[in-house]
Amino acid sequence: MQLLKDRIIKDGNVKPGNVLKVDSFLNHQMDIELFNEIGKEFKRLFADLNITKILTIEASGIGIACIVAQYFNVPVVFAKKAQSINIDGEVYSTKIESFTHKKTYDVIVSKRFLNKDDRVLIIDDFLANGCALVGLIDLVVSAGASVEGIGIVIEKGFQSGGEIIREMGIRLESLAIVESMNAEDGTVVFREDAR
Ligand code: 5GP
Repeated sequence: MQLLKDRIIKDGNVKPGNVLKVDSFLNHQMDIELFNEIGKEFKRLFADLNITKILTIEASGIGIACIVAQYFNVPVVFAKKAQSINIDGEVYSTKIESFTHKKTYDVIVSKRFLNKDDRVLIIDDFLANGCALVGLIDLVVSAGASVEGIGIVIEKGFQSGGEIIREMGIRLESLAIVESMNAEDGTVVFREDAR
């Protein structure tokens, strides 16, 4: 998606440790006009799927998922980071290691909001090593629902997540795939075939 790639070049910052900061338009301050274009693009890419629910994870996935959901006319459920102590039989739970915080979280979704008839589109801001997505997929599988597709705004193609998810046979669409980035000179190079 050219609009997104142009914005990453203009306003993204490459930080040491393979972190791309996009907090002026995606992760902290949010550019809703851009989010709308992202929503339209995911709708176009997944137009053939009969989605019943969008699933994301708190916190930074929520804003994007909400705007995307307006194009699919379905509810958004976000997986919550929880204290293990609060986990009871009323929730599906899994563990996710955070790439940015280097911490492992228990993540839950209430059984009331995900069930076996759901056809789920997972939406998230970034794909790095794939831990967040593997955890979200695990929650959907626990509910007996199906993962119809995954939409990612920025995939870091030099990390292993994209390969892991594609090898699982799940349809994954990333709007920008970063092939390489350099914290010293700030350059970001995109993969050719990415939208
Ligand atoms: P993964 O689980 O795929 O390793 O990491 C995905 C999660 O880590 C995303 O939900 C995102 O919040 C965060 N993340 C991973 N890499 C980056 C990055 O380069 N920049 C930012 N801002 N967040 C990232």
